[in-house]
Amino acid sequence: MKLLVSFQFCLALGILAWVLPVAISANGAQIVLGTEPIEQTAKHGSAKKFLKRVNKRLDVLSAETSEAAWAYETNITDHNSDLATEAQLKMNKALMKIIADSSGYKGKSKSEKRQLHLIKLLGGMPDSKDDQKELADLQAEMTKIYSTAKYLGAPLDPNLTDTLATSRDYDVLLSTYIGWRNVTGPFIKPLYEKFVTLSNQGAHDNGYDDAGALWRAGYDMSSEDFTELIEKVWNQVLPLYEQLHCYVRAKLAEKYGKDRVELEDGFMPAHLLGNMWSQDWSHIYDLLIPYTDVLPIDVTPELVKQGYDAYSMHRLSESFYKSLGYDPLPQTFWTKSMLTRPADREVVCHASAWDFGNDDLRIKMCTTVTQEDLLTIHHEQGHLYYDHHYRKQPALYRDAAADFFHEAIGDTMELSVVVPQHLKEIGLIKGDIKDSPEQTINAQLAVALTKIAVLPWVYLVDQWRWKVFSGEVKPEDYQTAWIKLVEKYQGLKRPYPSTPDDFDPGAKFHIPANVPYIRYFGAALIQFQFHAALCKTAGHEGPLHTCSIYGNKKAGKQFAKMLSLGRSKTWQEALRTASRGEFDTLDGGPILEYFTPLREWLEKQNEGRTCGWKKD
Ligand SMILES: [Zn+2]
Repeated sequence: MKLLVSFQFCLALGILAWVLPVAISANGAQIVLGTEPIEQTAKHGSAKKFLKRVNKRLDVLSAETSEAAWAYETNITDHNSDLATEAQLKMNKALMKIIADSSGYKGKSKSEKRQLHLIKLLGGMPDSKDDQKELADLQAEMTKIYSTAKYLGAPLDPNLTDTLATSRDYDVLLSTYIGWRNVTGPFIKPLYEKFVTLSNQGAHDNGYDDAGALWRAGYDMSSEDFTELIEKVWNQVLPLYEQLHCYVRAKLAEKYGKDRVELEDGFMPAHLLGNMWSQDWSHIYDLLIPYTDVLPIDVTPELVKQGYDAYSMHRLSESFYKSLGYDPLPQTFWTKSMLTRPADREVVCHASAWDFGNDDLRIKMCTTVTQEDLLTIHHEQGHLYYDHHYRKQPALYRDAAADFFHEAIGDTMELSVVVPQHLKEIGLIKGDIKDSPEQTINAQLAVALTKIAVLPWVYLVDQWRWKVFSGEVKPEDYQTAWIKLVEKYQGLKRPYPSTPDDFDPGAKFHIPANVPYIRYFGAALIQFQFHAALCKTAGHEGPLHTCSIYGNKKAGKQFAKMLSLGRSKTWQEALRTASRGEFDTLDGGPILEYFTPLREWLEKQNEGRTCGWKKD
C-alpha cells in the first residue's frame, strides 16, 4: 500500500555527523581514536583569532572526511573503508585538540561565546586514554551484535521487517517480535551498563552532570526547561494519539479477536502494528482504511506513464524549491550525486544528503520511480537547500539551528506536495479531483499512521536514556523502566512477559549505536509550525491540510531568512524568524489544527468505546 507521506529517519551529513567515537571498517575491524597525546597549547591570544583558525581547520577537515566517507558509501571496498576510517580518525583527533584548546578562551562578543559553546558540545570523550579506548570498543561491539543479529537465520532487514509489515498471523508476528528482542537485548545489556558509566565519565570530564545533560545542552535552554517543554507538547497532542489508538485497537480486535487485542487497563499488544517498534503503523493501513471504495491518491502510475526517471524526479523536486524563489541546485549536484543504484559495485543505498562545503551538495539514493521516492527526494533536497542557504556562515554555524530543524525542512515541503490540488497543478493527477470528505479522511489517516503514531515512541526512547544516564534508572531496572514507558506513552503491552535477562532497548539501533533520538520528536512537530506560518504568509484560506505554498515567493523568502541563519542564532530565534514572530518555541497547536477533520471523524467512530489506558 502506497502512502501519502514518507517519514524517513535520515541523517544530514555535515560536520557534526563525524563526531563519532569509533569507526568500523567494512570487514568489521574497529579502530580507536585518541591514541596520540594532545599537544599543550599556549592559552593566550584572542578568541576571535582562535575561532577563525578553528573554522578554517574545520572547513578543510570536514571536506576531507566527507569525501572519504562518500567514496566508501558509493563504492564499498576494504580499501575505501580504510581511507574513510583514516579520515575520520584524523577529524576526531583534531576535534579533541580543538575542544581542549578552546577551554583557554572565554570570548568577548555574543557570537564568540556561542561558537565556544558549540565547540564544547562537540566533546563527550573521557580524559583517560584507556577509558576512551574502552568506550569505543564497547560501542563497536554493541553495534556489531545488533547489525549481525539473526532470528531463525533471518536478519532484521529486509526479512524480519517485512514479516512485521506484511504478516497477518498473530503467532508469527508474536514469535518474530519476541525473537528479535531475544537475539539482541540480552547480549547488549552487560556492555551497555559499562557504556553508560564511561559515557558519563566523558560528560563529567567535559563539565556536564551526565551524558544526557550533555545531549540536552544543544538546545539553547536549560536541561530542565527542555525536558519540561517536551512533556508539555506531548500532553498537547496526547488526546489525538488516544483517539487514533482507540480506533486502531477496535479495528485490530475485529481482525484478531477482542480477547487478544483489548487487553486489561486499555492496552493493546505491541506486535500487531506493522513495525518492530510500533513506531510506524502505515503497513497495516489495509486493516484500518475508513472508506474502502475510495482509493488513496497514488501518483506512481502517472510517474511511470509519463516516463519519469531518477533524474527527472530530482528535477521535479528542484522545481518545487525554485518555485519559492530559490536557486537551482548547483551544477555539480547533477554531475557528482549518485541518483541510481550502480550496476557494477556495492553501495549504501539508504538515502542521504551531503554537504562538502563551497556549495558542493550531493544526494546518494537508489531512486525508483514511485511516489514514496518522490517525497523522499523532497526530503533530501530540503537538507541541501538548508546547506545552500547557510553556506556563507563559518563552519561552526554551518548547521541547523537545532538538530530537529534539519529533518523538518523537506518534510515541511512534503506537506504542500501531497495536496491533491498541487499534484494536479504539476500534472501528476489527470482529470477532476474528487475532493470528498471520504477522500480527506482516508488521506489523513494514512498520514497520521506515520506522523502521529510515531510521537510517543520518539519521546520515550530518549526519556528512558536520560533517566539511565542520570542514574534515576539503575541497571537492574533497565527493562522494567523501558516497559513502563512503552505502556505509559504508546499504550502498548509487550506481548510476552520479560525475563530478568531481557533488554528491549537493545533491540533498537539507536541504543547500541548511541544516536540521540529526541530530534525526531521536535522535527515531527515543528514542520507543522513551519507549514502553518508559511501558509499564513502565502495568504492561504481554508483548512491547513489543503494549503500548498508551491509558487509562493513571499513564503519562500520568509523561510529563506531562517535557513540562512544556520546555527548562528538560537533555534527559538530562528523559529521566530521563520514564523514572523508567531512562534518562539515548540507548539502542538498546528499539528492538531492540520488533523482536525481526522480527529472529528475518529471521535465519532469511537463514540461508546472506552478510550485511553492506565498511565501510572
Ligand atoms: Zn533527513
